[in-house]
Amino acid sequence: MEVAGGLCTRTRGPLQTCALDAAMPFDYESRATSKIKESKQLTIGIVGFGTFGQFLAKRLVQHGHKVLATSRTNYQHEAAGLGVSFFRDPDDFCEEHPDVVILACAILALEKVIGSLPLQRLRRSTLIVDVLSVKQFPKQLLLSMLPPEMDVLCTHPMFGPDSGKGSWGGLNLMYDKVRIGSAGRRQARVDSFLQFFAEQGCRMVEMSCEEHDRLAAGTQFITHSVGRVLGEMGLESTSIDTKGFEALLRLVDNTNNDSFDLYYGLFMYNQNATEELARLEAAFDS
Ligand code: NAP
Repeated sequence: MEVAGGLCTRTRGPLQTCALDAAMPFDYESRATSKIKESKQLTIGIVGFGTFGQFLAKRLVQHGHKVLATSRTNYQHEAAGLGVSFFRDPDDFCEEHPDVVILACAILALEKVIGSLPLQRLRRSTLIVDVLSVKQFPKQLLLSMLPPEMDVLCTHPMFGPDSGKGSWGGLNLMYDKVRIGSAGRRQARVDSFLQFFAEQGCRMVEMSCEEHDRLAAGTQFITHSVGRVLGEMGLESTSIDTKGFEALLRLVDNTNNDSFDLYYGLFMYNQNATEELARLEAAFDS
């Protein structure tokens, strides 16, 4: 037997086992595994490639999904750096026929964004997902504006580029399967999409959009309101900060890093927000 350039060749004599023979079953297995991975790979289109769209795209690409994006602004350069194909023209984006389209635009812009997407160029069975920080509003809009054949999944990743900078382990992912066709492949697709978050370690919370908004007004909206108010005060670190004060500064940082549009959307498009603000004011007065 001769070994040439890492390959083994038999020249004479009885049959001999060589390293390559031993490696065959392993090779087969790894090829089979990558075939399974490929079959689970989704083509995911992101509409709205700002802070949150890019944050999601990075992990989706790392997970092995094929990611496309389109946005009002030209993010060609940022997309290339993340391994995402960017389409300036929404027609070209839709003609790529993504399995899933994630709407990651500002809450205030959703109606306009859906209205300007050439939905007829997508496959009729496309799964449309929103990630807005309020939930009843997009649910109603998606049900009224999308063709009835499209699947609708409303989600809220309860974290962002600050809180989800490192591991997503234990971070909450709220979802509501608003309208998913009964066909097995549609069910499998939505499960495969949600599996991405589960595999990142997220705590998967299935909940109605209505319940989400009731709870989020008393938690997320209050957190952002207090953080914004404190931010307006221009608080600064001193040489005698307490742990409590350090926590307040972190709150200011976390909430003020988000766009004002995001905060404004939390207030304008969660019908429970006004009541929570009134409770906050009453508590302050008392
Ligand atoms: P954002 O200010 O809420 O949204 C920015 C995105 O909206 C950008 O992609 C921007 O497009 C697009 N946009 C804004 N106005 C538009 C208009 N008039 N027409 C078309 N597009 C418009 O900031 P964000 O943090 O990226 O949030 C995006 C979405 O994710 C929001 O719905 C938010 O509630 C949700 N979310 C955010 C977080 C977070 O921590 N940041 C967490 C969970 C969910 P261009 O950049 O192309 O202008």
